[in-house]
Amino acid sequence: MSDRYTVLVVDDEKVIRDGCTLILQPEGYLVRTAANGREAIEILETEPVNVVLCDLKMPVMGAIEVLEEARERFAEVPIIIITGHGTVDDAVACMKKGAYDFVTKPFRIDHLTLCVRRALEKQLLERQARQLQEEQARNLYNLALEQSRLHTIVNCMADGVLVTNREMEVVLCNHTFTQLLGLNTPPPLPGPLSAYFDDAALKEAIQTLLAGGETGPNLCLTQEITRDRLHLRVMTAPFYGPDRETLGTVTVLHDITGFKELDRLKSDFVNLVSHELRSPLSSIIMQHKVILEGLAGDLTDKQREMLTRAHDKMQGLLDLINDLLDLAKIESGHRHLEQVPLDLGEVINEVAEFLRVKAEEQNISLEVSLPPELPRILADRRGIEEVFTNLLTNAIKYSPDGGAVRIAAVSHVDYVEAAVSDQGIGIEEDEIPKIFDKFYRVKHPKTRQVLGTGLGLAIVKNIIEAHRGSIKVESQLGKGTTFKVLLPAAAEVRSMSDARV
Ligand code: ADP
Repeated sequence: MSDRYTVLVVDDEKVIRDGCTLILQPEGYLVRTAANGREAIEILETEPVNVVLCDLKMPVMGAIEVLEEARERFAEVPIIIITGHGTVDDAVACMKKGAYDFVTKPFRIDHLTLCVRRALEKQLLERQARQLQEEQARNLYNLALEQSRLHTIVNCMADGVLVTNREMEVVLCNHTFTQLLGLNTPPPLPGPLSAYFDDAALKEAIQTLLAGGETGPNLCLTQEITRDRLHLRVMTAPFYGPDRETLGTVTVLHDITGFKELDRLKSDFVNLVSHELRSPLSSIIMQHKVILEGLAGDLTDKQREMLTRAHDKMQGLLDLINDLLDLAKIESGHRHLEQVPLDLGEVINEVAEFLRVKAEEQNISLEVSLPPELPRILADRRGIEEVFTNLLTNAIKYSPDGGAVRIAAVSHVDYVEAAVSDQGIGIEEDEIPKIFDKFYRVKHPKTRQVLGTGLGLAIVKNIIEAHRGSIKVESQLGKGTTFKVLLPAAAEVRSMSDARV
């Protein structure tokens, strides 16, 4: 046993005190002695004591009184009674008063040490039990606190929240959810999902997630649902137990009616303004062209220069209007996506031929590299033409005079990959995610003179994604850029039957 433990020996007979000390000290205990109960209480009051060995009968304050006083104030210290053979009954009475054990005089060494060790073990166990109890009480308190906090957070949220268990029963549903769905009296919890929300798409999403059909670290299925006059964005995610088993799902309803309305107003406004501007602008450009071609009489060099500059600016404005109209149509879903089997190679060749003149003006070589057999894609010809016109125009625009632009395509198992590469100014790494944003143009000293709207790549991305394809960019500043477009081969796009952009 370790010498960290202190044993207090209380006996009016010095020989017993010394005897106990002689036995216990070699065992590693720190031994304190007292000649009577009063002294013992004083020591207990001032020093840490682990076990008390206390004589039953002493002239000043015997074991019974020590026990009575200690029970209140030193309840965690076990007290062992030292007794003679004739007073065993009294010792038993002491045990009823709370003594841990008794040893009879004259005691055997091993019996005394065993008794002390057991008392210490008991004390240790009791302390551990007390700590566990305190910890449990603390945990229960924290849990209740957490629950109450969570309850308040969930109920204060402006978004609707619905939680299901793995049996698809609703176990939690906040105030906003019931309000959004017009449930005047929320059904009791737990309750079937259909009593709260009868949307088939949501039910399917929850079923998929509960079945573990979709996996991924940040898995969240997002849908948009229209209900009465409300547009709701519905996000559903599973939650897991400690062994990663799916225990249920959380669905959050976000009311996007206001955004949708704003979007519609914005699109209407853009459409209206653009239409009103496009016709007069086109006619001004036509008239400028006529004048520039000399059909309205001779021009001085100065007049030609000024008119050419005005013509370029006007053309830029018309491009912007056309892009805005295009994007507005795509975003509002009013542009129908044709699905015809398309020879991508043919489209690429046509676009490249159309832009060759522009490339030559800048002394840029334009190389087309296509394999003899390229699988067809199911796609909208005008949309795909627009994609490659934009990418090739950019490659030419952002290349220095005398550069080289290349467009190549290869076929993979179930998709076709087309890459447009240039040796132009390149794009900084942290700019790459932004270039597909509407109106975003990288600020670069070399592009200050390059005309553009910042809408081309937004249109490109929209069209590609509507074809269930994707676009990637690789670029090195000062070395060049490659845009890679992946489009599913015809067999892979059967399910596009009602896709729209
Ligand atoms: P813009 O009309 O400005 O060309 P885009 O949406 O087509 O608009 O492109 C967005 C921005 O991305 C451009 O302003 C340009 O900074 C950058 N960018 C696009 N293509 C290239 C390219 N091939 N090389 C370098 N930068 C490019």
